[in-house]
Amino acid sequence: MSAPSNPITAHLPPAGKPLVTSRQLTLVLVVAMALAWGFLPEFTVSVLSNIGLYALVAAGLVMLTGVGGMTSFGQAAFVGVGSYATAWICTSPTVAAWMGGFVGPALLPWAGLLLGLVLTFALAWALGAVTLKLQGHYLPLCTIAWGLSLYYLFGNMDFLGGQTGITGVPPLVIAGFSLATPRALGIVIWAVLLLALWALHNLLDSREGRAIRALKGGRLMAESMGVDTARHRVKLFVLAALLAAVSGWLYAHLQRFVNPTPFNLNIGIELLFMAVVGGAGHLWGAVLGAALITLLKEKLQDVLPSLLGSSGNFEVIVFGLLMLFVLQRFAEGLWPTLARIASRWVRPHAAAAPDVARPAVPTVQLAQRNLPAKGEVLLQATSVSKHFGGLVANNDISMTLKAGEIHALIGPNGAGKSTFFNMISGVDDPSAGEVRLAGQTMTAKPSRVFAALGLGRTFQHVRLLGQRSVVENVTLGAHLRAKRGWLAAMLRLDRAEEAALMAEARRQIERCGLGAHADTPAASLSLGQQRVVEIARALAGQPSVLLLDEPAAGLRHLEKRALSVLLGQLRAEGLGILVVEHDMEFVMNLADRITVLEFGTVIATGTPAEVQANPRVLEAYLGGADDELLEETR
Ligand code: ADP
Ligand code: MG
Repeated sequence: MSAPSNPITAHLPPAGKPLVTSRQLTLVLVVAMALAWGFLPEFTVSVLSNIGLYALVAAGLVMLTGVGGMTSFGQAAFVGVGSYATAWICTSPTVAAWMGGFVGPALLPWAGLLLGLVLTFALAWALGAVTLKLQGHYLPLCTIAWGLSLYYLFGNMDFLGGQTGITGVPPLVIAGFSLATPRALGIVIWAVLLLALWALHNLLDSREGRAIRALKGGRLMAESMGVDTARHRVKLFVLAALLAAVSGWLYAHLQRFVNPTPFNLNIGIELLFMAVVGGAGHLWGAVLGAALITLLKEKLQDVLPSLLGSSGNFEVIVFGLLMLFVLQRFAEGLWPTLARIASRWVRPHAAAAPDVARPAVPTVQLAQRNLPAKGEVLLQATSVSKHFGGLVANNDISMTLKAGEIHALIGPNGAGKSTFFNMISGVDDPSAGEVRLAGQTMTAKPSRVFAALGLGRTFQHVRLLGQRSVVENVTLGAHLRAKRGWLAAMLRLDRAEEAALMAEARRQIERCGLGAHADTPAASLSLGQQRVVEIARALAGQPSVLLLDEPAAGLRHLEKRALSVLLGQLRAEGLGILVVEHDMEFVMNLADRITVLEFGTVIATGTPAEVQANPRVLEAYLGGADDELLEETR
């Protein structure tokens, strides 16, 4: 049987071939490993347990580095905090004297877990709040600094046993079972790892996950969608640190002693290495990377010294070369390549693919904004000036935008249009003057507050998450209309809201004429279409003010007509729309009012007919810059 015309199954390999979904494959592998666990050799079990411990930390790093774009070399230090916290609680006579009355010995490791998590939380929050403000190379450098400091701290604290560390850490006891061997504790390690991967996977596939992904695209875009980027960065950092601390807790009860060595900078680098080699942005890449590096290290430590005739940490050199090779050949890590090869036999889990035929009926309402009455002033700029050193980019510009009108801002290149755009969208503050949005003074407020007050915008240089689908990109625009947080997302309690967000995004995509592309990666669309995706994303936020920076650039004739029609509809619905646009035909046919800028100053304002007849405008466009007119009317 064949059903080639079904749009849902058309992209799948022909029926009849053995196919499993990724979820089935995962289940089979987990069950196989669970069945084999009792029969594997002691050594294998111990290696697998170590892989599980590393993978837990690496999964946090995948979130932090691969997804969030923040590099940390210092993760091993958080593993250390988790390890030392439980080792200290479980062995210190002081603690025993204190807790003796309330907490039995079997509960001490759990007190240790709690202490480790609380300490790590506080430490990561404090470190994150200070260091995550740093840009570029300063953040990784800082993580090296505190990674080193914590390592030396562990080794120099007398009550933590100095360089010798702490011995006699008791085994974990769960429900009366003592998990004293790797074979017993390994099950817990892998259970925790799988649970963490599940929760992180859920997080990434949610409203907050989209906000996290947006961090990598730069703060400007994310903030304009209403995402508090600073807060998200710190939370992501804390999350990664907590995973490392849990790994450290398990490690201490696996080894039954702790000393500073496993928490030094070397290991921090190795952990980062695992995340990067495995697949910087892919959670399963963390497991792959942890397995590869652990096995390789094992082999190299055997082979290299005898090969070179002397002992030493030679594997570090090989790791370095390997990292170079992988980053050269597989920039995204090994996981995507592996997934591509496997895609012949494995298809994505069905729930991941949207059900086009039967769209979910949302049971939750997104937040709705009351649209303003026609003619109401939405945005008001009063005597706005902007100086860059000696240069006056905006000089005393006043302008209003009303509900139900399209206002165009035109002017030659360098006239100050983009600068003004930044002033009225919270990207930058005016040197003088005032911007009011929805009746509020916006001085010194960040762009996410503008978004919350109903300002939606697009960017002159398209800012989309290219690898993500159009619908995911558009859903980000509705970020502020939903409220489920990280924990709800991790536990999958956000599904009803998520369905509502998706439905809203699809509605906006349809309306903008991109329905056929909703599930394709944004980067595979033409530049003109990507601009329209940005408009759909802005609309998903249900704005009352829409700012469009050159929306028609790169669009073909018919697409421009469609865009005109869409903007006309939005105007009729009562939106106030401000467009910066170079296409004069487009502007003259569409705009109700036009403001013309030259050298940062308003030289004319009025209806298209008035502006076209204004001698100063003709002078600006024809007099000084013939080429410009040619370029701009093209
Ligand atoms: P337009 O968008 O109309 O082409 P811009 O607003 O980008 O013009 O630029 C106006 C003037 O301000 C230009 O001379 C530009 O070089 C200058 N300018 C813009 N941004 C900055 C900045 N961050 N620092 C210094 N000068 C700037
Ligand atoms: Mg510009």
